[in-house]
Amino acid sequence: MSVPIEPHDQRFPVLDPAVLQRARGMLATSASIVAFSGAGLSAESGVPTFRDAATSGLWTRYDPARLASPEGFAADPDLVLAWYADRRRAVARATPNAAHRALAARPDIALVTQNVDDLLERAGCDPTRVVHLHGRIDRDRCHGSCGHEEPIDPAVIVAELRRCPRCGALLRPAVVWFGEALPPEAWERAVAAMHSADTVIVIGTSGAVWPAAGLVDLARSAGAGIVVVNPDADPDDNKDHADIVLRGRAGEVLPALLSGP
Ligand SMILES: [Zn+2]
Repeated sequence: MSVPIEPHDQRFPVLDPAVLQRARGMLATSASIVAFSGAGLSAESGVPTFRDAATSGLWTRYDPARLASPEGFAADPDLVLAWYADRRRAVARATPNAAHRALAARPDIALVTQNVDDLLERAGCDPTRVVHLHGRIDRDRCHGSCGHEEPIDPAVIVAELRRCPRCGALLRPAVVWFGEALPPEAWERAVAAMHSADTVIVIGTSGAVWPAAGLVDLARSAGAGIVVVNPDADPDDNKDHADIVLRGRAGEVLPALLSGP
């Protein structure tokens, strides 16, 4: 499947064709490829990052930790649900970009994402192959311990406290909050993917922040080559462990990187 390349956006650097060829060569000799993505991938679709959303509009008056933590939910669940209704609407309005579609066109690539949106799935990625390290915003789960989860209808997003139909505890967004552990199953799948990877493509995420740094380091020490796709010249940008850095938007770089010969 060929994915159209988006027109070049003048605000971003022009991709260096020689560096692109090196990266394509690395992928061509890789039996196992992992795409590890973060907020930058979805920001190109218009989903504001947590930080950007929490520092704009009416949300500037709240401490971001109050909007996304068990303590914040206990203190003011209505506020937290209002924040998530806002975030859910932003995700529902967004559409997958060319980078999501380029990944969907390569079912051989394992997908590990820190993003809580479903843009990879909506681009056509098989849901069973997307590992969501930080959970999913389009689902609720039980805030008790019964483990119940249920999907949210994107057409009917309301900030309403609901009870778990199984145990009666409050339902909450099925995302990982500040101070919470990552879902063990997702973490184990991510670690296994990193262990077996020949190449990891790091997309739109700072390599300096845990857990990204830990997973990329793990892949690196297990022998994987690391390709970083990031439009910004971030000084922390995996400088100690990237083999190839592709400066550019994911929507431009990934179709060029992943399309057929
Ligand atoms: Zn429950």
